[in-house]
Amino acid sequence: MTNFDIIIIGTGAGGGTLACKLAPSGKRILILERGDFLPRERENWDPLAVAQGRYRTTEMWRDAGGKEFSPYQHYWVGGNTKMYGGALLRLRESDFGATQHFDGISPAWPLKYSDFAPWYDEAERLYAVHGTRGVDPTEPPAATGYPYPALPFEPRMREVSDAIRRQGYHPSPIPLAIRLPQDLNGRQNDRLHIELYDGYPDPTGAKGDSHVVGIQGALQYPNVTLLRNRKALKINTDASGKRAVSVTVAHEGQEETYRADTIVVSCGAINSAALLLRSANEKHPAGLANSSGLVGRNLMIHNNGVVLAYSAKPNPSAFQKAILIPDFYHGAGDSPFPLGAIQNMGKADPLLLADAVGDELGKDGKDAAHFAGHIIDYFITAEDLPMPENRVTVDANGHIQLHYTQNNLEAYRRLREKLIRIMDDVAENEGVGGTTKYYGFKLGIGGVSHQNGTCRFGADPKTSVLDINCKAHDLDNLYVADTSFFPSSGAVNPALTAMANALRVGELLAAL
Ligand SMILES: Cc1cc2nc3c(=O)[nH]c(=O)nc-3n(C[C@H](O)[C@H](O)[C@H](O)COP(=O)(O)OP(=O)(O)OC[C@H]3O[C@@H](n4cnc5c(N)ncnc54)[C@H](O)[C@@H]3O)c2cc1C
Repeated sequence: MTNFDIIIIGTGAGGGTLACKLAPSGKRILILERGDFLPRERENWDPLAVAQGRYRTTEMWRDAGGKEFSPYQHYWVGGNTKMYGGALLRLRESDFGATQHFDGISPAWPLKYSDFAPWYDEAERLYAVHGTRGVDPTEPPAATGYPYPALPFEPRMREVSDAIRRQGYHPSPIPLAIRLPQDLNGRQNDRLHIELYDGYPDPTGAKGDSHVVGIQGALQYPNVTLLRNRKALKINTDASGKRAVSVTVAHEGQEETYRADTIVVSCGAINSAALLLRSANEKHPAGLANSSGLVGRNLMIHNNGVVLAYSAKPNPSAFQKAILIPDFYHGAGDSPFPLGAIQNMGKADPLLLADAVGDELGKDGKDAAHFAGHIIDYFITAEDLPMPENRVTVDANGHIQLHYTQNNLEAYRRLREKLIRIMDDVAENEGVGGTTKYYGFKLGIGGVSHQNGTCRFGADPKTSVLDINCKAHDLDNLYVADTSFFPSSGAVNPALTAMANALRVGELLAAL
């Protein structure tokens, strides 16, 4: 049986980026991915097909009470980044220190922002991030500008941004991973069609996801092998329990086992924890790398919500993933504790608005297209705090169960109020009359797109699962490189931090 130097399990923001970083090292790398290539097909941009879950897993998870739910999870080459919005933000400097929140303390990281800064630079270059530095006052220091300038706002978004700025805030362009108009290899892509970007697969490859950037980059090298449709069932150790030696996968109803000197788990925070727990053996009775009892604990998913701001003024924007309002990240005049970040999301399709606007549909002749043509869509994110009771467990059949109680909701409530006041003010000053209305919802337990924190890193093996290099304290050659390592979640989208950390870990592994 071939013995690889490194096996990477999973191809999302963590695994895909790690593979790309390690490929030039010449090491024999095997990538095991449970999913297949996401098909390029008409339905990629069909809002109904996407909303009905065409690309979501059919796997069901259970909540603490045993009730089944469908998790917002995508198992493809590229993982959840195939569907992501490509908003690549750095954590803020304060996120690396201990911070007081309404519901308690967000703990310090064992490394500082300055340790991550060069990796953020590299990740932004790799993923062709388009942005503008110096507008967002909460942005951490960076050695260089963004690799590419921000996309210009469409007229309506420019108007709204100007109106928000007149209120004294700092609307900034959302930094976006876009391989347009020219990617890092100098190739032109003249098919600028990115309206359906956030929450949709991108058949053009213009969205910088971990498949088109990470995995395709890695596969340029002959020493890299990708095996798809291989779900990792178990990581096996030697008799001492100190070394991980192989991975057993399910493939077309059969089990296969692959060996390597080093094994990296990058299955996403929930699946990585589940895989370690399922890999319990005599030497690791509570699960692999789990002498601390912390594998799966401190699960965070963010307090995320959608706010649809309706006003009389039409919003004909096609690409609406434009404005970030960072001003409440550290708090507000009337709020001593952090609230979070507000940003636009992709436009809701008329087909999907019926649920959101409910009874109002059809009143005064206002159909779904009318609402879609007026609404500005926002995604708001407030930090949730790590709690040991919020955890991933697996039952006797290996099924995933999430125990998750929301916390720090006051921050979310206040953040939503701030957005409503801002958009009320925008509408009032536009003088076109009509009422401003708000629709939307807060994501529940199924909304795990920002999952993180189940294998936190740290210096002390009693209080962390991974050491500061993301190697499991308990084993000599087992690493975790995805969003699992976060000790706290901050309130920005997590992918860039997973990518930057994968580059950091990749540099260490390349030198082994
Ligand atoms: C609709 C949507 C929009 C989003 N928008 C943004 C955004 O704009 N900005 C941002 O920063 N983040 C965004 N996110 C979140 C972002 O996608 C994740 O933070 C990121 O992908 C996490 O990377 P990861 O490597 O931890 O896990 P994933 O990307 O989930 O990758 C895990 C990989 O492991 C594979 N896998 C899982 N279990 C196994 C197993 N047992 N065996 C083999 N393979 C396995 C999966 O198939 C997958 O390929 C969004 C997510 C969604 C769903």
